Amino acid sequence: MSPGFSKLSKQTRVSNTSNAQMTLSRTSSPSGRTLSDRKTRQFPVGTIQLGGDAPIAVQSMCATRTTDIEATLRQIQLLERAGAGLIRIAIDSRKDVDALREIRKETSANLVIDLQENYKLARDVAPYVQKFRYNPGHLHHHFRETPVAEKVKFLVETAGEYGCAIRIGVNFGSLDPKQKDTQASHLDAAVLSALEHCDMVESFGFQRYVVSLKSSDPANVVEINQRFAALRPEVPIHLGVTEAGLLPDAEVKTRLAFEKLLPQGIGDTLRVSLTLPDEEKDREVFIGRQILEDVANGRFLNVPPHFGSGLNVISCPSCSRVENKQFVRLAEEVKRVTSYAKEHRVTIAVMGCRVNGPGETDDADLGLWCAANHVNLKRKTEVLGSFPYDEVIPILLAELDKIIAAKSGEVKL
Ligand code: SF4
Repeated sequence: MSPGFSKLSKQTRVSNTSNAQMTLSRTSSPSGRTLSDRKTRQFPVGTIQLGGDAPIAVQSMCATRTTDIEATLRQIQLLERAGAGLIRIAIDSRKDVDALREIRKETSANLVIDLQENYKLARDVAPYVQKFRYNPGHLHHHFRETPVAEKVKFLVETAGEYGCAIRIGVNFGSLDPKQKDTQASHLDAAVLSALEHCDMVESFGFQRYVVSLKSSDPANVVEINQRFAALRPEVPIHLGVTEAGLLPDAEVKTRLAFEKLLPQGIGDTLRVSLTLPDEEKDREVFIGRQILEDVANGRFLNVPPHFGSGLNVISCPSCSRVENKQFVRLAEEVKRVTSYAKEHRVTIAVMGCRVNGPGETDDADLGLWCAANHVNLKRKTEVLGSFPYDEVIPILLAELDKIIAAKSGEVKL
């Protein structure tokens, strides 16, 4: 079954992250999928329907290495059992493609492929999947001599040939450089990038696509999705607060965005992005389903006082691109040891890989991204160095103290 807004059963496991800090109150009583008159285009993705009045599908992503076939199959089963309607897998290489072929033999789950720069792999994986996601920002990195429109055409033709759907995935941390350089704000760049790619995809006669506009800041997620939905009301939307980080704050951030958007009819599928050990990734799905059920029943979050006004530790949900599984523990450790600075308005970003880490940490005051044997550290856009996993924390704390001192005017950085 593909669980959605109108199909959530009473047995849905309730998120066990809702703690004393997070209470829900009943403020209105919307029910069912049709919370507003907004009706997007509907189409099938494997065994589920996306858009229109179809139930809102909750999705998640495998954090295991794609080439580890056994672990990835276990992860798929975990997410399926939790009720994921779509399961995403990262594909970066021919080895990943070979692994996916084997994975497909063992599962009938609706699979979505996450493509990075190597968009050409879409043709090799299309026979085994129901959907692929591309990021407009990533289409500028490799094969630079090929115009972006030509790359999109290739993706669209491949999707059409194999009956796949597409997600245009716009992300604040990896915006299209052309839009980023010419627009006044990330908000404008994100919305314009999504609109540009909708036009591009449709100019090739393709309509089976959804759009996601993600940021790690829930207020930004609300604004860019509202702006996009007003301009392209017929296009289905995939909701998500990217790099929301660790529980319980990550759930609060996600609820803040989803509770505003869902009642406006904005959101046709969603993912809750959480930094979790692989064996707990099903919590993304349980929490997503719980949020849908709460919103459908008019239960909304009483936001903890001052939430979001001090230290903000963001971290990615990890995926196949993580080279060292110490990443999750590192993110937890960073959050724990920096809690003394909770009153200070500082953002620390912890990312799992070298592929997206450098870009996704650009807007943070301090950024860490993980490689196989070391962690890279930077202050704003200035790289400070690479450090062993067991040595990076004291260096991070020294930098944090310098930033706090600079913000209070004690020293200059
Ligand atoms: S930052 Fe890297 S490891 Fe983390 S989710 Fe993104 S691609 Fe995966």
